Amino acid sequence: MVTSREFGKTRLPLWAAGFVGLICVTILGLSAWREWEARNVDLRNAEIDVTNLAHSLIQHADDTFELVDTLLVGLVHRLELDGTGPDTITKLQAYLPTRKSSDRIRGIFVYDATGRWLATTERLDFSKLNNSDREYFQRHRDSTETGTLIGPPIKSRSGGQWIITASRRINDPDGGFAGVALLTIDVSYFVKFYERFDLGPNGSASLLNNGGIMLARSRDESDAFIGRDLSNAPLFKGWKSRPAEAVYYFKSPLDGVQRLSYYQRSSRYPLMVLASKSQDDVLAPWRRAAATRITFVVGLVLLIAVIGSYLVRQLWQRQRMAQALVAKEANFRLLAEQSSDMVTRIGLDNRLLYVSPSCVRITGWTAEELLNTSALAGIHADDMERVAQAITALKNGEAEEARFVYRQRHREKGEIWAEAALHVTVASDSGAIDGVVAVVRDMTEQKDLQDKLASLARTDGLTGLANRRAFDERLADEWARARRDGTQLSLLLIDVDHFKKFNDHYGHLAGDGCLRALGRILSTQARRPADLAARYGGEEFAVLLPNTGPDGCVEVAEAVRQALHDLAMLHAQNPPSRLVTVSVGAATGLPSLTSTDFSTLVAAADRALYAAKDSGRDRLVMSGQVVPWPAKTA
Ligand code: GH3
Ligand code: MG
Ligand code: MG
Repeated sequence: MVTSREFGKTRLPLWAAGFVGLICVTILGLSAWREWEARNVDLRNAEIDVTNLAHSLIQHADDTFELVDTLLVGLVHRLELDGTGPDTITKLQAYLPTRKSSDRIRGIFVYDATGRWLATTERLDFSKLNNSDREYFQRHRDSTETGTLIGPPIKSRSGGQWIITASRRINDPDGGFAGVALLTIDVSYFVKFYERFDLGPNGSASLLNNGGIMLARSRDESDAFIGRDLSNAPLFKGWKSRPAEAVYYFKSPLDGVQRLSYYQRSSRYPLMVLASKSQDDVLAPWRRAAATRITFVVGLVLLIAVIGSYLVRQLWQRQRMAQALVAKEANFRLLAEQSSDMVTRIGLDNRLLYVSPSCVRITGWTAEELLNTSALAGIHADDMERVAQAITALKNGEAEEARFVYRQRHREKGEIWAEAALHVTVASDSGAIDGVVAVVRDMTEQKDLQDKLASLARTDGLTGLANRRAFDERLADEWARARRDGTQLSLLLIDVDHFKKFNDHYGHLAGDGCLRALGRILSTQARRPADLAARYGGEEFAVLLPNTGPDGCVEVAEAVRQALHDLAMLHAQNPPSRLVTVSVGAATGLPSLTSTDFSTLVAAADRALYAAKDSGRDRLVMSGQVVPWPAKTA
């Protein structure tokens, strides 16, 4: 069973929150991925740069050493053919400078088997110089190998600058050691070449030999790196298993900078080049742009999150409000539909927007039949104006509630009395009056009872005539009316003659019967609608005759006497007729001519009654004069 609380509750706010979250996460994820990709593209491009550069550098190194090699081979070949006799050396000394044509070659040197200088391109006195202490010299002397030996960088003995040596052993005709031919290249030649390339503020290009000794390096102002032994660096560990050329990321053991690089080994010489860029330099533009982009994206995501959470909250609140409304509506219906009163909701056009099922009991019509009909239909014409006015006042905001009793048509019962309690309703959003709620109750029984009570309070129980209270009220009203209209008002006071004796003689019950009979006569004789017959007290009666003069009094009194006579109720103690008779005192007033009140009329009639009794009973006395019964005179 679905309870009213659960009704209307959806997962929409949850879905919306999830959706907003997903959008935020997706945007952040996509932009992080995109940034990662951009970073990798920058690194890839830098790798391509250093790769290309490494290819150029190794080509350059190969070309340089090939030239050197060619020169050395030629020189050694000639010395081995011609020997190192003075003639040859003199010719050689003249020939050598011509070979030093390019700026790659710093100098060419020839040493004999003892290390003594035989010839050189340098213009200096070398007669006392000896290079037998140089490593390359000792290597050639101790080994019969005839290949070119590329040495580590050393400080030139002749010029003082850093140089790289390339040397070959000279054999005598027996194959014995005859000396060394040496060629030197300025380290600065490589450095200058390397510095032509833009590798960024922290990039570098290096030439190393296979033993891990640094031969030349760009950006080496104080010669700090030349000759450094890097054989312990990670690049040279596992050297054998590495490919001849590859991209290589490392943290430089020389300056601690994280670099991306490309190394390439020479296929012909025991050399390698290493072109590298600082990873920070490569990624700096990306970092700057990414920071801007990420700031923008994070800002956008925050905005989406803020707006999204606001909308989700709104959704959630609306849902709660709708739920509360549904629950309220359900409660209202429960109350309205269980109530024995008819509950209706009336729109501004007076149409019934809602009718509770009790309408069947109260009006005889079903809710479906009444729905959308006019709320004023079936109201008694005499009550219509009052009811319509009350509803209009409510709708105009002049009153908040109204309560009235009116007559309402019932399908079967004809007409019922109903009590309605009305209350205005206001729209929950605008606060404007949007209708009226009416609770209607069947009042017919109460109304009947009320009417009965009211009439009982004004009726004499024995005779059914008006009682003294009703008579007094009517007398005051008629006196006022007669004064307004300038008409006459007459009053008869009627008293049964010797009634005490009647009671004594015939019994009290018979007395009651006599009084009832007289009551009937009086109500018959007070013919005109405005006439009123009343029991004034005991065996005394009063008849009020508006707009009637003395003649009228006589007429009525005579009619009463005649009727009594016709009835001929025996009254043995009432001589001479021995029938029940009455004495009547009458008075006529013209209230418009006096300032006195109605009590003077009563007093006058009372006096007349006394006079009638005194003068012998069974007669009418008009105030101030005795009027003999026509019957007596007859
Ligand atoms: P009078 O001719 O002077 O009027 O004499 P009376 O006996 O009629 O006058 P009195 O006022 O002395 O007596 C009135 C009597 O009416 C007294 C009372 O017993 C009787 N009476 C008053 N009300 C009722 C009543 O409701 N029923 C009966 N049976 N008798 C009543
Ligand atoms: Mg009396
Ligand atoms: Mg009497």
